[in-house]
Amino acid sequence: MLRTMTYLAVPIAAKNLDLAKQQIEAALAAGAEMLELRTDYIENLSADMVKGLVGEVKTADKPVPLIVTCRDKRQGGAIGYPRHLRVDVLTGALKAGAEFIDFEYENFHSIENQEKLRRALSQSLKGRLVLSAHNFKGKFANITKQYRHIMTVCPEAIPKLVYTANHINDCFEGFDLLHQTSGERIVLCMGQGGLSSRILAKKLNSFVTFASVDESSATAPGQLIIGQLKGLYRYDSIDCDTELYGVIAEPVGHSLSPAIHNACFAEKDMNKLYLPLLVEGGKSEFDRFLRNVLLRKWLGFKGFSVTIPHKQSALAYVKSGGGDVERLAEKIGAVNTLVISGDDRLKGYNTDYAGALDAITSGMGITRKELKGLSVAVVGAGGVSRAIVAGLSDVGAKVKIYNRTVERGERLAAEFACDYAGLDDLPNMDAKLVINCTSVGMYPNVDETPAPKGCLKKGMAVFDTVYNPAETLLLKQSKEASAKTIDGISMFVNQAVAQFKLFTGTKAKAEIMRKTVMESFSKKA
Ligand code: NAP
Repeated sequence: MLRTMTYLAVPIAAKNLDLAKQQIEAALAAGAEMLELRTDYIENLSADMVKGLVGEVKTADKPVPLIVTCRDKRQGGAIGYPRHLRVDVLTGALKAGAEFIDFEYENFHSIENQEKLRRALSQSLKGRLVLSAHNFKGKFANITKQYRHIMTVCPEAIPKLVYTANHINDCFEGFDLLHQTSGERIVLCMGQGGLSSRILAKKLNSFVTFASVDESSATAPGQLIIGQLKGLYRYDSIDCDTELYGVIAEPVGHSLSPAIHNACFAEKDMNKLYLPLLVEGGKSEFDRFLRNVLLRKWLGFKGFSVTIPHKQSALAYVKSGGGDVERLAEKIGAVNTLVISGDDRLKGYNTDYAGALDAITSGMGITRKELKGLSVAVVGAGGVSRAIVAGLSDVGAKVKIYNRTVERGERLAAEFACDYAGLDDLPNMDAKLVINCTSVGMYPNVDETPAPKGCLKKGMAVFDTVYNPAETLLLKQSKEASAKTIDGISMFVNQAVAQFKLFTGTKAKAEIMRKTVMESFSKKA
């Protein structure tokens, strides 16, 4: 396949020339490799204004290539300028030295537009035409046909096809088009569902991907910020061989997994990238996403973290395909890690219970064997409780489950042969280890605690699975009572270290993961 470079372009969308110059300076400082002058944002626009602006960029110390666009309002333009002015702006930009002008394919058909643009292009030494088609509502009826039409009408143009991915599964036909074609073409998906297309543009060799300097200057839904793309998503290190991982979840925006896994890939200088994968819907959408990935080996996906609400679907998917499921994951009824093995088969694991057991043993300074016979009070009977109760029962701990809804606690206790009670029985507990598996105390309800202060005693260990904040009220009160404390970040980091091992065969540095989590909390605070 003929490879061209992928330019990281920053759109300049300012209402006047002074603001445009400030945005250009900020974009270049942030590492823009190309600028797109969205002249349809400039008030009282004239072709001479644009010529002047192009001239200034071209004579700067380090000039970058320019795309000049004056988008038709019907195709997402900001101010509705008449067609003749939009064509004059583009032809003027070519004369002033712009490398690329972007015009709507839909409007190119008009003989008058075509003649003016073709004449200006033939008179320009290096000017190229980008012929663009947008669908803000959803997928193109037939993206390959649309691409071929553009190439037939103007073979020397760079086709640009941008559409809204209403679901992550809508991205795959855009990926296919990039995979099946070569040379200069731009294919991107808008919206939250299309986020990965903006990052993977470089791996799949789209001619351009766009990112904004900040949220307020984004020109399309779902556009990433250049700092995020280069920092969090390791843009500069992506190439066609980059292996892909990601967290499948809904919602996914709050997930810290991309930050911690990418920080460890970077530390080990691995050609791997971890993406947030928003898979909306239930089992059928989840299954379709995995089928889409597995059918396209060339995408290079090698593994996934799976979280709410897809852990049960992940288990069912692996089992139905005859893949291997770790024994305890099957017992827990949830898979939080999927690995695509060399023979393209899926393997399913649950690293939540192992992450919790590792947090407990290192926090208490004991081995897993020493958990045998230990009396443990588990508060809560939801998904996290289930994983921890399974892990503790497996190593022979004596577990009693305390839950607000007693019947739910009773059902869980019956499955793992444990004792159970309501929360009102907590003051009578006799446990060496107390574990909070409820969401009580989690940000923003930081003044709440699931266990009365009076039941926390010296000699006890208290583990709170809540990890935001790192020190919950339960842990503060446990410290005051001279109990040992174990925070939820330890479990989160340990389960991620276990996933990293399954993904790469190597051990990640837990301290890098913890530092990344803490930094992300302090940024949000
Ligand atoms: P889940 O399945 O929804 O279960 C929630 C549990 O919390 C249930 O037992 C529920 O009791 C109880 N609960 C909720 N609100 C309560 C209240 N106001 N008073 C008393 N009990 C209450 O949730 P999950 O997936 O198990 O997650 C639970 C927590 O684990 C999360 O909030 C998160 O902080 C933590 N977590 C930590 C990690 C980590 O790696 N450290 C990972 C995932 C989750 P009922 O049965 O009566 O509704």
